[in-house]
Amino acid sequence: MTIIELIKVSKNYPNSKLPAICDVSLKVEEGEVLALLGPSGSGKTTLLRLIAGFETPDEGVVLLKGNIVSEQGLALPPEKRGVGMVFQDYALFPHLNAAENIAFGLRRMSRSEKNEKVCTILEMVGLSDFSKRYPHELSGGQQQRIALARALAPDPALVLLDEPFSSLDPDMCVRMREDVSEILQKTGSTAVLVTHDHEEAFSMADKVALLNEGRLEQLDTPEGIYHTPLSPFVADFVGKADFITGVVEGGKIVTEIGCLQNTSHFIEGAEVMVMIRPDDIDLRPNAKGDATVLERQFRGSENYYRLRLSSGQIIHSGQHSVSVYPVGSQVDLQLQITHVVAFEKTKVNGPRS
Ligand code: ADP
Repeated sequence: MTIIELIKVSKNYPNSKLPAICDVSLKVEEGEVLALLGPSGSGKTTLLRLIAGFETPDEGVVLLKGNIVSEQGLALPPEKRGVGMVFQDYALFPHLNAAENIAFGLRRMSRSEKNEKVCTILEMVGLSDFSKRYPHELSGGQQQRIALARALAPDPALVLLDEPFSSLDPDMCVRMREDVSEILQKTGSTAVLVTHDHEEAFSMADKVALLNEGRLEQLDTPEGIYHTPLSPFVADFVGKADFITGVVEGGKIVTEIGCLQNTSHFIEGAEVMVMIRPDDIDLRPNAKGDATVLERQFRGSENYYRLRLSSGQIIHSGQHSVSVYPVGSQVDLQLQITHVVAFEKTKVNGPRS
């Protein structure tokens, strides 16, 4: 079943020249987790607020479970949408303990039903022993799990998470991503998550909607967004991407590091820019090799290399953590591209270091 459908939704704030959201259409199916990803100001929060009902669209329609909940001049209030919300700062009630916070949204249940539900959900988030603790007596991660438990307790059709890990330290953040994903999976919840971090989006979401200046640049699986970006913006936003010049000759894209398939069917003679990810290149030591090692960053799980090709083009490569090539040495590049992504030369900015 389709849980959310947005059809050509646009939103302009007063006194703002550019629309915060422009002509966005997308669908989220039951049980899916969608990440709204993009740089600051790209419209992620606005889109989440349009789905929640805190904002009304200027154009377009928002449907929840097939029913129109927002269109121009009409907006079903957030509390009538059957949507659970987890805010950036968790927004737990400080004067209520964990169990009371969770029970807050369960108004229509009898006392015993409420108690049972609170116990079940506390167990699910692994905090059965913390039911009597007040928010200030819980760690950031525990507060977040209570906030998620509170959002999930009324069995919402949809749960919305607004940058839920932004106030956690990096180690805790990684653990909480796993915990939250597991809880969402266990409950079969449909969720929309706002994040500016592509790793968070990739690790948690089934689908990623990448926004840029209010427009939907690409809606795809994490793998699709990473391996087959539809624009240089997407390519660059979701990981390191170098672009090298290629020319279409004899049906192939000829570059200085090898010939590639012309998968986008550019015309013969076309000048293109081919996207190279650090994981697309393998290195082999060779004193007569075409590339010079300019820098090695040891990152624990990998060695990350910055290399210069004979043309002067800079390129990056991630290698095994024990593959060490000295700075200044020559190496051969071996291409391991599974998906060739190339754009018209005019659409790509100049080379970067
Ligand atoms: P993101 O969540 O991706 O950082 P937002 O949805 O918060 O982006 O903002 C999108 C655009 O809308 C930005 O240009 C922002 O300045 C503008 N904006 C957001 N909220 C308001 C508001 N209440 N009034 C006016 N402009 C706003």
